[in-house]
Amino acid sequence: MEDRGAERIAEFIEPLRVRPGSTVRLERDFDPRDKGGLRKREGVELLRSGVELLAEYQQRLAAQDTYGVLMCLQALDAGGKDGTIRHVMSGVNPQGVRVSSFKVPSAEELGHDYLWRYARRLPARGDIAIFNRSHYEEVLVVRVHPELLVRQRLPGLVEGAKFWKQRYREINHWERYLTDNGFRVVKIFLNLSKEEQRTRFLKRLDLPEKNWKFSAADVRERRYWDDYQHAFSEMLSATSTRWAPWYVVPADHKWYARVCTAAVLAHTLMDIDPQYPKVAKAARKELLVAKRNLEREAPEGRPADPYAARHTTADGRKRR
Ligand code: AMP
Ligand code: MG
Repeated sequence: MEDRGAERIAEFIEPLRVRPGSTVRLERDFDPRDKGGLRKREGVELLRSGVELLAEYQQRLAAQDTYGVLMCLQALDAGGKDGTIRHVMSGVNPQGVRVSSFKVPSAEELGHDYLWRYARRLPARGDIAIFNRSHYEEVLVVRVHPELLVRQRLPGLVEGAKFWKQRYREINHWERYLTDNGFRVVKIFLNLSKEEQRTRFLKRLDLPEKNWKFSAADVRERRYWDDYQHAFSEMLSATSTRWAPWYVVPADHKWYARVCTAAVLAHTLMDIDPQYPKVAKAARKELLVAKRNLEREAPEGRPADPYAARHTTADGRKRR
């Protein structure tokens, strides 16, 4: 049953995966309006079961305490990163998840190598870390506005194709290193159309409770739409690797973006297939000794094991 589920999820996300080594042209290769042939009602139902599945796997991931998962979410403004995180992670134990948002780097952060601030927010074993924006900003916003590099005080900086190639290589190596050490990197790009972005900006202006989300800077950034499409295309082509592939998720329909994101994360967790640790024979003996000692402490008139008494029928069978 679970295997069938895993297969179906793998099939579902396959068209979203950027094949390592392929050359992506975003506008040509991926349609932001795609719904995968689903209706909204079906999608919402799928998301519900996906959220349950994630909760179960996250518990196992934490119990096994061997692997960690890093999910990077990238999108253009109004792409729906916040809502996706809220919905997809709604079922999981908050103790096992940490969300980090990355903004314009601080003076302290600029005093270090560019990956430093991201490395500080990596997951521990057993945890899921979510990056709301990620180290990929270093080849996106910084690529579209190379003047930002001056603040990074790089020695011998010559900005150009060679420089960005080097950054892609460094990022690929870093992710390879993390994967080899038990930390899986899941990368999702929420792919929004220009027209849907316009609609969402206007919604932020029209609804008073959405006004706080509006930023004039976002509208200014929209002028660089084509440059961003180019930067995203180059990034997807150069950094979708065997160990950490990119998934391009159509984002014009929020419900569909959420189903896809849950599916990609579930796929990774199912691939790790974390198991609850088995108690070794010696440790099991210790448990039995502890159990006997606790049972001996039972006060007059109380069952030796109140839990077992409550959950076992008179003929010794387990109650459901
Ligand atoms: P928001 O996520 O809407 O709160 O905006 C965060 C802002 O920080 C965006 O405009 C990003 O482009 C910007 N930002 C994130 N990372 C970097 C970076 N490494 N360098 C410069 N700007 C960044
Ligand atoms: Mg913003």
